[in-house]
Amino acid sequence: MRRRFLTFWVNRREHIGNRLRNGAKNRYFRCPACRAVQAVPIGRGQTKIVCRRCGEIFLRRT
Ligand SMILES: [Zn+2]
Repeated sequence: MRRRFLTFWVNRREHIGNRLRNGAKNRYFRCPACRAVQAVPIGRGQTKIVCRRCGEIFLRRT
């Protein structure tokens, strides 16, 4: 029982560590037209973002 509890914590700690190493996969930008938050996968350089709510297209660096 105690062993199972420990492995749970070890797995959890590794999971968080992986996340820190890889970095976040998304960045969040606010649409300039309607203020809706758009999640954008991190790429390289400038990315064209299309707002899902109002269809506004804007450019951001990720
Ligand atoms: Zn919008």
